[in-house]
Amino acid sequence: MNDMKRICIIGGGPGGLMTAYLLSKMANSPFSLTLFEATDRLGGKIRTLRFQERQARYEAGAAELYDYSSVGNDPLKELVEELGLSIVPIGGSSVILDEQIIANMDDVRAHLGAKACEALLSFDRSAKDMISPSEYYLGGHEAQIAVSPPASRFDALLGKVGQAAARRYIETLIHSDLATEPERTSVEYGAHNYLMNDSRYMQLYCIEGGNEQLTRELARRISADVRLNHVVTDMGRGEDGKLAVACRHQGVVREESFDIAILALPNNYLPHINFRGERLAAAMRAHHAQHDHPAHYLRITVLFDRPFWRTKLDESFFMLDRFGGCCVYDESARDPEMPYGVLGWLLGGQPALEMSDLDDAALIEAALKSLPATLGEAGPRFLEGHVHRWPAAVNAIPGGLVPRAQSLRHQPEPAGHPDLFVVGDYLYDSTLNGVLDSAEYVAEWLVSEMIRS
Ligand SMILES: Cc1cc2nc3c(=O)[nH]c(=O)nc-3n(C[C@H](O)[C@H](O)[C@H](O)COP(=O)(O)OP(=O)(O)OC[C@H]3O[C@@H](n4cnc5c(N)ncnc54)[C@H](O)[C@@H]3O)c2cc1C
Repeated sequence: MNDMKRICIIGGGPGGLMTAYLLSKMANSPFSLTLFEATDRLGGKIRTLRFQERQARYEAGAAELYDYSSVGNDPLKELVEELGLSIVPIGGSSVILDEQIIANMDDVRAHLGAKACEALLSFDRSAKDMISPSEYYLGGHEAQIAVSPPASRFDALLGKVGQAAARRYIETLIHSDLATEPERTSVEYGAHNYLMNDSRYMQLYCIEGGNEQLTRELARRISADVRLNHVVTDMGRGEDGKLAVACRHQGVVREESFDIAILALPNNYLPHINFRGERLAAAMRAHHAQHDHPAHYLRITVLFDRPFWRTKLDESFFMLDRFGGCCVYDESARDPEMPYGVLGWLLGGQPALEMSDLDDAALIEAALKSLPATLGEAGPRFLEGHVHRWPAAVNAIPGGLVPRAQSLRHQPEPAGHPDLFVVGDYLYDSTLNGVLDSAEYVAEWLVSEMIRS
């Protein structure tokens, strides 16, 4: 009799691929692995694309990776190194308010006034008093927080910044990273997104040749039966006592049994699966509700015949006070050889959601118009533009208002379904670092179970 464990992973994004890779690396007994992916490609929200007009790349999804190695172990950076990938540091400190480039505190004083400068410094001190670099690093990962008090809203903290210009500066600085409005997130997550701009808390990098190298290299190394275009629609306890997983492929629904199933899906995809049996269905509804704080992105990326803005602004990204505060990446800065210019607008929150209804041409025009005249004329330099809509794709309060113990986050129904796990960035911090932490937690758990049995 073949007693090899049958494991399936549902979702071929970074979370599913990382879990598959770690399981293959850590397991000391053979198992069979099936990976179901709904679309025709692996990689999920890591998407490095190319323009048609010129040889130039851009990130349509995740743009930056976070480097915590100066504070503690950094599993993502270690993984990137292990996969043999090179990295490019990225950074930017400029915020454009009313067409003025504010790059440092002297500029704040000059353009916003001494009172705004004082209010900003005071906010900065209180954010740093609240969360130190090592607390930031451990944030949301403590082993067993059974109950912590409900988070208060970030707008309450911002309201204490008594100076309107200083408040506007902070909101513009962080709106795109938050991907939501201050009243829809917690003080902790808001403060995190403010503090990430300080290099003592983290540094930023991207992967040479495009971030999608990460998921490509993971996919190359896993040993799994990868089923593209397979949408998992239904799951629950089967008659044989195992987990029955039903998926649709080319209009045909088939069901298979597995010993273990791992749902590596963002929270907003979970309600699309029918979980059988009242107990499992209720647990998955509760899991979804715990994390149901959707946040939104919209990316507009434009290719120009040259990087005309560089004489005024030469950074990997800057923040702009348009669309409720957005980040503009100089995508062309990732590739020093590239003669062309590429700017990527990352809109977040409500403006991203509402503007998703506009057609691509209108969005590209709005992006071009949003650039301050001081940077130079964008219109004549335009070659090609693309739009990527990401409604509800990230989380506004990762971990939930009252974070649950790590084991419960990853095993929604331990009593009746100890063989069903979830992996996701929304359980920690809405980033690739967080999804790797989640994948690692589940892989280590499963491997220690395999060793025990
Ligand atoms: C615009 C944008 C910018 C971002 N920027 C950053 C950044 O700069 N840095 C950072 O760290 N993070 C960033 N993120 C977040 C990052 O993309 C996520 O942390 C990461 O993609 C999460 O991986 P995942 O595998 O959990 O989900 P996903 O990447 O969403 O992958 C899930 C996969 O599951 C598949 N799937 C869905 N339903 C089913 C089903 N029923 N059956 C089978 N397969 C299914 C999907 O097709 C998808 O391939 C960004 C996200 C967005 C949207």
